[in-house]
Amino acid sequence: MDIKELKGIGEKTSLLLNRLKIEECDDLIRYYPRNYDIYEPPVLIKDIDNKAVVSIDGTVIKSVDMNHIKNLTILTTVIRDKNGDTIKVNWFNMPYLKSTIKYSMQFIFRGRMKRVGNLTVLEQPEIFTLAKYEEKLNVMQPIYSLTKGISNHQMTKFVSEALKVTAIKDYLDENMRKKYDLCDLEDAIKTIHFPKNFEELKTARNRLAFDELFTFIYQLRKLKEKETEVPNRYIINNHEISGKVISNLQFELTNAQKRVLNDINRDMNGKVIMQRLIQGDVGSGKTIVAFLTMFDMAAAGLQSALMVPTEVLANQHYESILSLISENGLDYEVVLLTGSLSATAKRKIYERIENGIAKIIIGTHAVFQDKVIYDNLALVVIDEQHRFGVLQRAKLMEKGVTPHTIVMSATPIPRTLAIILYGDMDISVIDELPSNRLKIKNCVVTKNFRPNAYTFIEKQVKSGRQAYVICPMVEENDMLQAENVIDYAELLKENLDKSIAVEYLHGKMKADQKTEILARFERNEINVLVSTTVIEVGINVPNATVMMVENAERFSLASLHQLRGRVGRGDYQSYCIFVSGTENKDKLKRLEILNNSNDGFYIASEDLKLRGPGDFFGVRQSGEMQFEIADVFTDGEIIKVAGKAVDEFILSGHELIDKNMNDGIVIY
Ligand code: ADP
Ligand code: MG
Repeated sequence: MDIKELKGIGEKTSLLLNRLKIEECDDLIRYYPRNYDIYEPPVLIKDIDNKAVVSIDGTVIKSVDMNHIKNLTILTTVIRDKNGDTIKVNWFNMPYLKSTIKYSMQFIFRGRMKRVGNLTVLEQPEIFTLAKYEEKLNVMQPIYSLTKGISNHQMTKFVSEALKVTAIKDYLDENMRKKYDLCDLEDAIKTIHFPKNFEELKTARNRLAFDELFTFIYQLRKLKEKETEVPNRYIINNHEISGKVISNLQFELTNAQKRVLNDINRDMNGKVIMQRLIQGDVGSGKTIVAFLTMFDMAAAGLQSALMVPTEVLANQHYESILSLISENGLDYEVVLLTGSLSATAKRKIYERIENGIAKIIIGTHAVFQDKVIYDNLALVVIDEQHRFGVLQRAKLMEKGVTPHTIVMSATPIPRTLAIILYGDMDISVIDELPSNRLKIKNCVVTKNFRPNAYTFIEKQVKSGRQAYVICPMVEENDMLQAENVIDYAELLKENLDKSIAVEYLHGKMKADQKTEILARFERNEINVLVSTTVIEVGINVPNATVMMVENAERFSLASLHQLRGRVGRGDYQSYCIFVSGTENKDKLKRLEILNNSNDGFYIASEDLKLRGPGDFFGVRQSGEMQFEIADVFTDGEIIKVAGKAVDEFILSGHELIDKNMNDGIVIY
């Protein structure tokens, strides 16, 4: 049913919702909250310290002032808690509150803490009578990702309307549900939006994570049925060109790289098509292995495509393969294909791919769009693996080709799980870092250390090196995040020597802007790059030696480890400064794990131990196979169970045809 048929959704609202890819009621009920708001018991003003949102039981001790600034109406007052501490309170554009809030009245004020200079202010609080707040206490309210023009309140209402009119049919029968200890699908979906308590939410969440994994594994099995033993039509056994490139490299391949290259070469000379997963920690040198194989392909007159998750990364790979080509006097045509190219530019590139002139194609998922017709695509490399990568082959097979496939991943998934999630892929591991690497020096510090950190960055820059500074995440909204990065860059400029070039980078910037900034950073025209985690994936600037992460406690350890992987990529000693925004012991303890180890595998497993079973709202553990709910790290058990359930489901002759289920799979 179209969302326009729902109460309260007209033409305008429906267009706004379309922006969030919500078109039908089915989409709405599958638009899960990104978090929940929990009304906690009121706290004392002296304890509000680091909390973003607080409830304060306070008495109004000053009659409400009303001021007009530009087109804003600002109400202000002061409240006092039971301890006698006071705090200033602000409301914007809510003049009617003036008649509600009177001197000496007592309310629960629930709002956001904001620091204005030295003063802490409670901003825009909701107000409740004690009795009303009692009702709200510990109830979980959904928080949705929104788009401009739609409030959380509206979204909540729309979802709740959609739930009323949408029939949800479970594809698992009662037997299966019992056997695998799953709740009913309809209950799960209702509960994920409106949980009564944490226990319920966990059950619902598990069911939905199971579904995602089930669907994924199901598709994988179906794929495998179709493609078992695809004969190898592209036999490659001449490695003259890759050999030449290897001998001209400025470094020697590590033994692990050689071993993996051997695996690949053996596969490509085999009877069946290659399907290989290469796991290797950040900085282990996966890219060159892929490039070498692509060169051998080109030498045999065949095409190969490298797909990466971001345009920035695509650009970087493009530049580095071009320099390898020119250093070695090769003349294979390489094209860069990304979504942000103009239609004309794309058309030209499509042409060169179709007529076989372009031999090496590098890009984002644009390389697999329908319009791209390959002349003789023999190898597909998927870097920094995402979920679609594994199923990409389905799309390719529709085009009547089954190329060799290499999937590259930096995520240390245990082998048992990798086997389920990567279906029929063979696995190679690069378990060794290049020998020129000096061990990265880490420190976990609190905010007071900032001046020292800045001085340190200055010194590094003066000696020719470069630094990244990662800004704290602003959860609510991308726009705020962008502003945050810009503000921080300003602050940094004020604190660093004038001669130091500081620039910023964030996700809201246009692709070509990002590319340009990174290119300038690569050329060391920018000394210090203030950024969000957009640089987390794959970026390689060996001259950068400092990674400073603000509010490190808000990132998953896996993310921090990826960020750290951006330094220590060259001959220089590199440093990581993790700035913790809190002195909370548990949070510091978690960060200490990073301090003690540079080993991604170890870090992931330790992080998991420290996370409670209920920690599932927390930051994602890995960028691997981005499922909406499921997490490759935390849901190991569910992955195994889903694998078994799929086998049973298929064996008993069932098929998944439900539209919602198939939606789980995104094939670009
Ligand atoms: P990742 O595995 O994280 O994708 P990259 O492939 O980006 O790592 O490699 C990181 C850096 O290490 C690059 O600058 C690359 O040129 C360099 N590199 C790769 N292999 C070696 C090696 N054997 N010795 C020294 N440096 C290497
Ligand atoms: Mg990489």
